[in-house]
Amino acid sequence: MRDGRDDLRWAVRQRELRLPEPLVPLARLARNYRWSWTRGGPQLFAHLSPHGWERAGENPVRLLRDLSVAELETAAEDPGYVAELQRVAAAFDEAVDLDEAAAALQEGTIAFLCAEYAVHSSLPIYSGGLGALAGDILKEASDLRVPMAAVGLFYDQGYFHQRLDPSGQQHEYWIPTHAEDLAAVLVTDESGHPMEIGVPVEDREVAVRVWRVDVGRVPLFLLDSDVAVNTPYDRWITSRLYVSDRDLRLAQYTLLGVGGVRALEAMGLGPATIHLNEGHAALATLELARGEAAAGAPFAEAIEAARRRTVFTTHTPVPAGNETYPGEQMRAMLGSLPSELGVEPEQVLDLGRVNPGDHDEWPGMTVLGLRTSRAANGVSREHGRVARGMWHPVFGDADPEAAPIGHVTNGVHHPTWIAPAMRRLLDEHLPEGWFERADDPAVWSAVDEIPDAALWRVREELRADLIEFVRERSLRDRLGRSEPRDYVEAAARALDPGTLTLGFARRVATYKRLGLLMHDPERALALLDGPNPVQLLIAGKAHPADDAGKSLVRELFALKGAANVAQRVVFLEDYDLGIARRLVAGCDVWVNLPRPPMEASGTSGMKSAFNGGLQLSVADGWWAEAYDGTNGWSIPARTDLDEESQDQQDAETFYRLLEQEVVPTFAAREQDVPADWVRLIKASLRTVAPRFAATRMVREYQDTVYATPPPPAGA
Ligand SMILES: *Cc1c(COP(=O)(O)O)cnc(C)c1O
Repeated sequence: MRDGRDDLRWAVRQRELRLPEPLVPLARLARNYRWSWTRGGPQLFAHLSPHGWERAGENPVRLLRDLSVAELETAAEDPGYVAELQRVAAAFDEAVDLDEAAAALQEGTIAFLCAEYAVHSSLPIYSGGLGALAGDILKEASDLRVPMAAVGLFYDQGYFHQRLDPSGQQHEYWIPTHAEDLAAVLVTDESGHPMEIGVPVEDREVAVRVWRVDVGRVPLFLLDSDVAVNTPYDRWITSRLYVSDRDLRLAQYTLLGVGGVRALEAMGLGPATIHLNEGHAALATLELARGEAAAGAPFAEAIEAARRRTVFTTHTPVPAGNETYPGEQMRAMLGSLPSELGVEPEQVLDLGRVNPGDHDEWPGMTVLGLRTSRAANGVSREHGRVARGMWHPVFGDADPEAAPIGHVTNGVHHPTWIAPAMRRLLDEHLPEGWFERADDPAVWSAVDEIPDAALWRVREELRADLIEFVRERSLRDRLGRSEPRDYVEAAARALDPGTLTLGFARRVATYKRLGLLMHDPERALALLDGPNPVQLLIAGKAHPADDAGKSLVRELFALKGAANVAQRVVFLEDYDLGIARRLVAGCDVWVNLPRPPMEASGTSGMKSAFNGGLQLSVADGWWAEAYDGTNGWSIPARTDLDEESQDQQDAETFYRLLEQEVVPTFAAREQDVPADWVRLIKASLRTVAPRFAATRMVREYQDTVYATPPPPAGA
């Protein structure tokens, strides 16, 4: 089976030959992202050269390439270092056995298809929440030994980077990623040449190569159209995440869906179940049907056979996330597929229409996914309800609740998101083996036994680490904007390590209502500058085409000019996984103000909760099912108001909760410890951690969605 395992081994071997003998295990750690969530893994690389680690973007493949002989020799001669390397390598080898994982795939692969993955900040092929979730699912699937193989696209320029100018205007730029610098290997064929798969796009064939990236036991295959035989246009298809050009975008989805199935089959990984993680990949089912038709099945049977093998997750009610395309454009993209399926193009397009036969309706990826899958789900209880309300006409059900769309509430991969200091504290106080049973409420009840002072010490440490990070980052950001020198240097004194710190970081999409923070500027400034002040950390990118989002960023950024608050508000440029990791660890309060019911789930708050952060959030998405009156603060979700009144009400509640509850609770100290605050943290850990761990989520996918029996033939 040519699935890139040998190519990976070859790459590891090349590095091993250049390492001093005691350091040889570093070569295999560097080539599997399992290092990033193995205890002590990141520290092992950072220790070799703290500066080099930062320069390498925390990418071990680059780090090992760039280290000097002296740096390697020093580590090789340090018995403490070598012993720690052996410990980490043993844990790593216990978790990852390539051949055994590959054998398990032969028993029935779950093929996970998604347009983006946030596995690590050094692999920039993600934009936001969908990618973060997908990355966490792969890691948890690895931990739980789910036989999963994943497919995505290799974007050699990734998602855009954000830079603000001194007026707060967002500018975008792209940085080329060099695959040879990454833990990625090209899958080769029997002849030793890179495997090439042909993917029909419109009336031509686009060649793609396949990169293999190892995420623990789960191989992630990334399709890349930057191949010499392709035209310059086709080579561009996989250049950037979510390109604006609609033809290119559809071509991306064709490579992902159709190319994904072909690549897996070429590698001998013909999937038992395909999990379409969001509609982008939905064309995969048409490729499955094409295979059935080639074997003689009539259209209806071919689609039915594809349906039996497919499950679908919808991730957002926001229209931009449920793309539709003019029939003509979709028909052009499908090329000869309809005739291969033995039908007229309109019959294929009808699979993507709410009302089949209505030629004016634009077919869409979500409807296609719903119609061609045996099980479908939203990503929180509330989102399941909203999705049924949106899509029940697809199933001809007058009653929304009868629509066959369930929900699996999102979760986060705790080994990735719990900061080391918090993990050490929990290791000390939770029962042995808690880390592997994070979805068990019983292990979390022990949180109550942690001495308040010890828990608080960790929270203070995490906040102080964050403030240090933010000072450095904002100094750099200011230098990059050519700000005046005194303002640049003020960054080193900005913020205070002991002050109540609020975090608001996410994509700047309209429904996320970043602007609510400053809805009542006077009240906001009073909070920032009160006797018990708060400080505010903001980060987020606006989509390049979203002018409203960009002007919001500009407005918030203008706060830097307000007297007294310049030291208390920082906008961090270029939000990414690395910034997210620090923010969710160090912020005391995680703020989320989506316009209900648009937040399908949200996951950054869960990451914060695992670190002892408290939620101040609209009761939408996951928070609607997590808030119980004892574990944070909730802004009721009112959906019966017009948008302006909704904003008014929610801003009012937001400020009132801050003024009357959040600030006083944080300020009230007994022997320096805010006892009521710590009680809230404990309630939050106890109630949020087990239910919103990815462990619970992936088990639920296995037990419900993946286990859904195929519909009876002919149904
Ligand atoms: C977790 C995460 C998200 C998702 O955040 P939401 O709560 O869904 O807004 C987005 N971006 C990054 C970098 C993340 O780590």
